[in-house]
This record gives sequence, structure tokens and C-alpha cells, in this order.
Amino acid sequence: MTKKINLYDLDLVQLTQFITELEQPNFRARQIWQWLYQHYTDDFSAMHNLPQSLRVTLAEKAHLAPIKIVSSQHSSDGQTEKILSQLPDGQFIETVLMRYDKRNTLCISTQAGCAMGCVFCATGQMGFFRNLTVGEIITPVLHFARQLATEDKHVTNIVMMGMGEPLHNYENTLQAVDRLTDNEGFNLGARKITISTVGLIPAIRRYADEARQTPLAVSLHAATDAERDKLIPINKRWPIAELLDTCRYYIIKTGRRITFEWALIAGKNDTIEQAQALGRLIQGMLCHVNLIPLNPTKGYGGQPSSREQVDKFQEVLTQYGVSSTVRVRRGIDIQAGCGQLRDRIINSN
Ligand code: SAH
Ligand code: SF4
Repeated sequence: MTKKINLYDLDLVQLTQFITELEQPNFRARQIWQWLYQHYTDDFSAMHNLPQSLRVTLAEKAHLAPIKIVSSQHSSDGQTEKILSQLPDGQFIETVLMRYDKRNTLCISTQAGCAMGCVFCATGQMGFFRNLTVGEIITPVLHFARQLATEDKHVTNIVMMGMGEPLHNYENTLQAVDRLTDNEGFNLGARKITISTVGLIPAIRRYADEARQTPLAVSLHAATDAERDKLIPINKRWPIAELLDTCRYYIIKTGRRITFEWALIAGKNDTIEQAQALGRLIQGMLCHVNLIPLNPTKGYGGQPSSREQVDKFQEVLTQYGVSSTVRVRRGIDIQAGCGQLRDRIINSN
């Protein structure tokens, strides 16, 4: 028997081709598209404007449930939910929903594991297993869209800040963005999806050249190579000066602001010297800094900065005219915070 096709892996052109091979008229593809991405349907039998015979054929030749949700955890304040999903080959990924007053933000994964090995990150501590397909990237989004729809709510924002390095899985990540922003489908505004990168220079250049609308965040975390080398191994290949040149190229090409992410680690990258060095590096740039006190992970002994030190750090940036926000930590009690995602249910590892 030939392998079933995951329909979530097909774009509209490919879906139309698939439908043509089934000797069906083209408009059927668009109908299915709407079921998948406007109604979040994951059951062929519910697609009631398709002929019964086609629904049966689809169920024989294709599938829509490549991801099994293994666990779902809610933070004590009820505002954050994390799901652990299992992929068909046994790999695990996590996805986080963060509810705010007017927003429902999803933090999604692009790889099983990560090859970049940042020392403070739980995903980096796991190592790399494989890239996710487009379908695997977007299926958790559809799961949460379906869930929110029952409360008359929507996914309003997506951050590609879950497991993996999005630009290391460039093609599938950007195709997932295209899928989610398609205005005949899921129809999320491109500006509502943020891609976060550890700083893969050739990929950032490519992204800049494609002049996309999706905002870019760059995980900087240190202002000197000596310090960044210790935290982020790929800094040895693509050091800070080259990374910032590439960021400037991106800003010139797109006219868009860059966000720099900075996980504040007590005594490491939260010093006044680091703040001043950062100020000197990026003053005058079209950018913003997100400061995130480090979230604890099993494989790293570093501690989050104190509130007092965070304030001092931010004060220095202000002196350099650099705008910054201290990010509210979410879902720490269920290990759903930045850098805490991995492939296990907590308490069972
Ligand atoms: N690979 C991408 C996106 C996933 S990580 C990247 O590195 O940018 C999302 C963000 O969480 C990054 O800014 C990352 O540096 C940060 N992060 C990783 N571990 C963290 C931790 N323990 N505490 C706080 N932030 C962390
Ligand atoms: Fe990978 Fe990002 Fe974690 Fe670094 S911080 S290991 S790039 S997921």
C-alpha cells in the first residue's frame, strides 16, 4: 500500500494536483482548503459539501492527524497551556498557548531538538533530531485554533520561539508562514508571526532579500564575543560584529525594526559593562531589546538576574537611547517559559 499523504504538508497548488489525480474538479481543492484552514476540520467525514465518495477516497489516500497530543498542562493561573505532541516517527515537540487580555499567542516549534547547543536552553541540551515538515509545524496551530474557536476566540499571534532554530529549517518554516498567512486559508497577518533566530547569518541575509513582512527577533544575549562564545556555540562561526552587520543589512533592506532577545543571567551577561557594551553596539539602530530573566533548565546552573539588576541593566540601555521591555515570564511552573521546552512531560524525567 502506498503511504498516505499528510494533507497539511501540501500547499494549494499541490493539493489541486492531488485532487486532479483523483479525477476531481479543481474547485474541490479550494473547498478542502477552507475546511482545513478556515474551519480547522481534521475529519474528512465532516466535510459535508464534498461528495461522499470523495470523502471516502480522501480517508483512504490521505490523513490529517499526524500528531498525537500526549499531554496538556495548564499553569496555576490558567493563562498558559503547554501541549506535548508525538510525531509519527516517535519524536516529541511542545507548543505553548499564552492567553492575554486581547491576544492569544502561540509559541510553536520548528524542529525536534536543536543543533545549536546554547548552554542555557533545554532544547539545546537535548541535541538535534530532525526538521519538522510544514504540516508538523502548523498542526499544533490548528489544534489551538480549534480549541479557541469553541470560546469564540482566535489565535492572534505566533512566535517561532519553541523548540528548534527556525532558520536552520528555512524552507519548511517559511512555507509554514505562507500557509498561516494565506488569505484564503488561515489568514493570520504576516506581522503577527515573529521568527526568532540565534543568528544564522546566511539565512538572515536570505530572509532580508526575500523582504518578508514577518518580524525578526535575534537572540543576542551577550555584547562581547568572549561572553557570547560561552553561551552560544555558533558565535564562534558567526561572531557579533558580523551578526550585527547582517542585522543592519536586514533593516536597510526591509525598513523593519529588529528585536534583540537577551536572557539575563546573574553575574554573566547582566553586568553594567555588558549593558554599556550592548548600548555602544546598537545605539542608533532601528531595534528594540527584550529582556527576559533566565528561566531555569535542568542542564544549566545559571541563575536569573535579580529585579534590581534587571532595572539597572535597562537603565543603562535607556542612557544609550536603546528601547527595551522586560518580558513577563509565563508558565514557569509548567516549564513552558522561553528555553524550557523539551521532549518530556515534567516530573517524569
Ligand atoms: N532558536 C531560536 C528560537 C527558539 S528559542 C532562538 O534561539 O532564537 C526562543 C528564545 O528563548 C531565544 O531568544 C532563546 O535564546 C531564549 N531562551 C533559551 N533558553 C532560555 C532560558 N533558559 N531562559 C530564557 N530564555 C531562553
Ligand atoms: Fe536552539 Fe534557540 Fe535553544 Fe539555542 S536558544 S539551542 S538556537 S532553540
